[in-house]
Amino acid sequence: MGKLRMTDLIDTFNRTHRDLRVSLTDRCSLRCNYCMPLDFDKWLPSDELLTTDELMTVIGVATEHGIDQVRLTGGEPLLRPDIVDIVARIKALPNAPELSITTNGLRLAKLASQLVDAGLSRVNVSLDTLDRERFTAMTHRDRFDDVIAGLNAARDAGLEPIKINSVLMQGINDDEAPTLLKWALEEGFYLRFIEQMPLDAGGIWNRSTMVTAASIFESLSPHFQLNPVPVRGSAPAEEFYVNGGPATVGIIASVSQPFCGSCDRIRLTSDGQLRSCLFSRDEMDLRKVLRNTELSMDEIRSEISARLQKTVLGKLAGHGINNPDFVQPTRPMSAIGG
Ligand code: SAM
Ligand code: SF4
Repeated sequence: MGKLRMTDLIDTFNRTHRDLRVSLTDRCSLRCNYCMPLDFDKWLPSDELLTTDELMTVIGVATEHGIDQVRLTGGEPLLRPDIVDIVARIKALPNAPELSITTNGLRLAKLASQLVDAGLSRVNVSLDTLDRERFTAMTHRDRFDDVIAGLNAARDAGLEPIKINSVLMQGINDDEAPTLLKWALEEGFYLRFIEQMPLDAGGIWNRSTMVTAASIFESLSPHFQLNPVPVRGSAPAEEFYVNGGPATVGIIASVSQPFCGSCDRIRLTSDGQLRSCLFSRDEMDLRKVLRNTELSMDEIRSEISARLQKTVLGKLAGHGINNPDFVQPTRPMSAIGG
């Protein structure tokens, strides 16, 4: 953890925020059924997406407040035409953060080595099945081979560790947990299962059919010896050594065992709204500040700084998914940035 500064983003529950998730676009090249319906068409108007200069202003101010990890996400972040330039510019900031990308992997074969040269440290690739037909059924695109090619390119480019994010859905791919883990161990990837969350644009999430962390653990344990890794810190995944280690597997129980108490994240949507949580109902408008032509750059930076601090101070203790009055956010995960 970095040195504590006067300006660190500390909330009223004494959580220090170090991690900024930045959505670069709400568009995507896949239609994963737990994320975006096939006929989804509620795209953000392109003139509302932050420009790269605007993004740099926000990220620059955030790093002055102790943000030392930035993850680029979306939608599909590698669809952003200037993604390599964005990575290089973030790494050229005076307090350059550790930089990672969460991607569906489709454009990694083309971009992995350029991204590494630009300063990318790590990549998370989302892959829910090793069966091509299932992949096509789950994502509505026949692009399984592109993901595998992307993973190979990421490894060849020297990205390490390569994390795989998998969401399991009942009756669709929930029988694949052991197969996915065996494959990840063979390939040297670090696999993390993520519980499906109520954040999809189609509203198909259903608590009673959600594949829980406990059931994922149950389906893995006949095949692998799993022992908890003691230190968890602010990492969302509960980690287990597999067959005595050193390899591990993660299970992210966002719904059944929320880890809000140690959350250190804030999020910037691609249209410049700041959120203290994936499930926030409130957003802080940074785009309006960035585009206010009556303000000097110093005034813009100072107002962004004030809004970052205000957002963090307004952060709730938890996301409340398990409260009776929980309401799914109106924005889907693809627009917030997962
Ligand atoms: N398109 C990129 C990708 O798929 O990696 C980045 C954005 S995606 C929204 C980020 C992560 O969120 C992916 O790992 C995806 O599997 C996960 N995700 C999307 N919808 C989800 C949901 N309803 N519940 C849990 N995870 C979800
Ligand atoms: Fe696209 Fe990622 Fe959502 Fe899949 S999970 S539809 S790849 S944004």
